[in-house]
Amino acid sequence: MRTGLSEDLIARVLGAAPKYTISELEEKFPPRNLPDGAMVTRFAPSPTGYMHLGGLYQALIDSHLAAQSGGVFMLRIEDTDTKREVADAVKLIVDSLYKFGIGYNSDEKYGPYYQSQRRDIYHSVAAELLRDGRAYPCFLTADDLEQIRSQQSAAGFATGVYGEFARDRDITAEDIVRHLDNGEVPTIRLYSTGDPVRRIFCKDAVRGSIGFPENNEDIVLIKSNDGLPTYHFAHLCDDHFMRTTHVIRGEEWLPSLPLHTQLFRMMGWQPPMYIHTSTIDKIDEETGKQRKLSKRKDPESNVAFFLRDGWPTDAVLDYLGNIAASGYEEAKLKGMVKSFAEYEMKLKKIPMSGALFDMKKLEWWAKEYISAMTVSDLVKSVVTWANEYGDEKQKMQVANQDYLTAVLAIERDNPRRIRKDFITWKQTLGIEEFFFDELFVPNTEYKYNADVLRAFLENFDIADDKDTWWNKIVEIAQKFGVKNGDVAMDLRVALSGRTNTPDLYSIMQVMGGPRVIERIKALL
Ligand code: GLU
Repeated sequence: MRTGLSEDLIARVLGAAPKYTISELEEKFPPRNLPDGAMVTRFAPSPTGYMHLGGLYQALIDSHLAAQSGGVFMLRIEDTDTKREVADAVKLIVDSLYKFGIGYNSDEKYGPYYQSQRRDIYHSVAAELLRDGRAYPCFLTADDLEQIRSQQSAAGFATGVYGEFARDRDITAEDIVRHLDNGEVPTIRLYSTGDPVRRIFCKDAVRGSIGFPENNEDIVLIKSNDGLPTYHFAHLCDDHFMRTTHVIRGEEWLPSLPLHTQLFRMMGWQPPMYIHTSTIDKIDEETGKQRKLSKRKDPESNVAFFLRDGWPTDAVLDYLGNIAASGYEEAKLKGMVKSFAEYEMKLKKIPMSGALFDMKKLEWWAKEYISAMTVSDLVKSVVTWANEYGDEKQKMQVANQDYLTAVLAIERDNPRRIRKDFITWKQTLGIEEFFFDELFVPNTEYKYNADVLRAFLENFDIADDKDTWWNKIVEIAQKFGVKNGDVAMDLRVALSGRTNTPDLYSIMQVMGGPRVIERIKALL
């Protein structure tokens, strides 16, 4: 430790006197009054204007663990990187969570939940560290840092501000005043007492205890340009005072674990339980190898993709849930649980590597999910999607909800034989385009049997029940010496333009007599 700074100097270094003492903060944000084993988790995205599928995966795990343990799940906006901020980026995060049905707790007591509004807290903790010499103001400029870095690289040393390279580590009060009088604004750096020759053991709930060399870098706690904290310092202050019990974050943070453990120990605070999740991978189409989902190459790495294309959000969550808790699929198939919300997740089973996200598998989840929906829920989902994301055609398709309901109800009345061809709301409307005169494209390639079509029209009555209707088809087949299926195929293609459709009788019933007659006549 070094000698601490006087209160006057602390106020000058931080730009203002700190608002709280540590014990005032402890009192302001007391330990939560929750049952044993309740987990307090948070999703802590940086508002970059893009939400990665991996973020949704973490938010799902966070909210699920909190809910199943009777705990609390929070959303914390990590907006301390003013250089990277994008307009509307927070809205995108909030909207995405809302659309995926992931709710969070915003109890004011532990807020605010925007880091940019928590400056007083960070400055108060930083003041405490400056007071007793565990942190110091550093006046190294960007040029100085660049010079240090090239010197270190040339000599084959690790880069960074540490040991003898940390010029201001033992800066005197006089020198601080001199710099301040000069108009310079310092960063606040940790006075690290770590030594990489020693090892620090850190805990990850799934990976177990991991030994790392101790951190000796005097990392930045408070930045000079905007007075905001770095991720490391914000994590320390926020997860302590928000009383987070479990930090679930990407494995890219694993190398920072020794530093974070060091910071918590230095404060005498209990570190949260960490879980570093695997990246979400896919099998590369070209190489056949497993690799990370790439923001550039894979549209499905972006959460917005699933919303835009109308994937059932619950099916996406089901699949992500099954990646996080691999027993879920079986439990659901066996009918032991109805949804992921009911499935008890085990921390230890969260995969530490190779979490594969395969669009084909997602299609399976989506088909299963949609096939279990009631018609009215299905209609509601399709309408909501089309009105927000659809084009003119799709909006037209949902304008008449009675007709749409009849269309979507086809082959959904027999619980043992519900059609499973719907995957997304967009694709569902695509499949059903032929029901709409404005979108129907007659099939002019197909070789119709005109005699068959004519004979059908002669005797057609929309009021026929299914047996009567079928008997007429059988009669026509006999009359012209063709198979029953051939007659049905002529009619199917005439009405839908396709050779493959759901039940033909239902299609005619939904289309209605005049439309059936008109389409066949138009062909003849
Ligand atoms: N803002 C950090 C990120 O976007 C949060 C990491 C964490 O959950 O602590 O990766």
